[in-house]
Amino acid sequence: MQKQLTTTCNQLIDKLRKEKILKKEEYLCLIKNKRDCSEYLYKNAREVCDSIYGKDIYIRGLIEFTNYCKNDCIYCGIRKSNKNADRYRLTVEQILDCANQGYNLGFRTFVLQGGEDGFYSDEILEEIVRKIKLKYPDCAITLSIGERSFESYKRLKKAGADRYLLRHETANKKHYEKIHPNTMSYDNRIRCLYDLKELEYQVGAGFMVGSPYQTVENLAEELLFLKKLNPNMCGIGPFVSHKDTPFKNEKSGTVEMTLFMLGLIRLTLPNVLLPATTALGTIDPLGREKGIKAGANVLMPNLSPSNVREKYMLYDNKICIGDEAAQCIKCLKTRISTTGYNIVVDRGDYKSI
Ligand code: SAH
Repeated sequence: MQKQLTTTCNQLIDKLRKEKILKKEEYLCLIKNKRDCSEYLYKNAREVCDSIYGKDIYIRGLIEFTNYCKNDCIYCGIRKSNKNADRYRLTVEQILDCANQGYNLGFRTFVLQGGEDGFYSDEILEEIVRKIKLKYPDCAITLSIGERSFESYKRLKKAGADRYLLRHETANKKHYEKIHPNTMSYDNRIRCLYDLKELEYQVGAGFMVGSPYQTVENLAEELLFLKKLNPNMCGIGPFVSHKDTPFKNEKSGTVEMTLFMLGLIRLTLPNVLLPATTALGTIDPLGREKGIKAGANVLMPNLSPSNVREKYMLYDNKICIGDEAAQCIKCLKTRISTTGYNIVVDRGDYKSI
């Protein structure tokens, strides 16, 4: 019985590798029986990734420049209603300092991430992007600052931003509404992703694995959604509860499900840039290494100044909050070398062939 199931699943994995898409029921079958075929999935996912990106692992320096946020996402530790969050903003000079340190450590992509903080107007953001681009023309800039208007995205692109990371969080509208307040809208978030594509940003979407109310059907829907959107990057990580949110008692996502979704994404979107996230490293000490072995090819170490790191607490027990950037990259290089892969000094652009 077991053996037959494994055969069925392996055949589905072969089909996915060949056709790069499955029907919802077929994805669901794999997800439900993941224990019987995960090793086979990872082997295929790695082969596909290696054939496009080789043994290179790209790094993105994450600069968490503000934890002020006007939104109230129910799962998030920096949500507006969390009165225990100690709020901070980095100055333009501090952000440039982070980029400078990062550049010297070999980073060629900077991700500017923050809450939705009205303090950073289009003008201020344009100044930040321009200054980084002027000093480091060989680097890519990714913005990850939430939902904005088409006009705003357009201005920031013109100022020099290359990429934009905006996880859709969940592809199912009803599920979206269960984990966000009714002041937020699924349709607007998706609108943003399509606007960003239209403006020719390299676009990153993504979702949490194991967020409250998520079903296995929802996970199967993620793959169909991603296939349709066809993003250049996809950030996924386990949901991890945060003690000062209404979801404080909810179970976190699992390593197994996150790895399995990474493998399925790699076969569905072979060229996608796929990070092994900090959240994955948080729920398992070897999570990021395992993520790479399951098909990931990107890491996003923290470049934020040490004294603000513990304030950007999206979820409990986030790792690397005590480290200096230099320590972080050294530790990661050692970790990754155990997997047979290498961190490279490269912008790490999407390869479309
Ligand atoms: N304001 C930006 C950045 C949000 S924080 C934006 O809206 O895109 C970056 C990501 O952290 C989010 O997209 C979300 O997927 C993730 N995140 C937030 N809270 C989390 C939690 N409790 N567990 C796991 N991931 C979380």
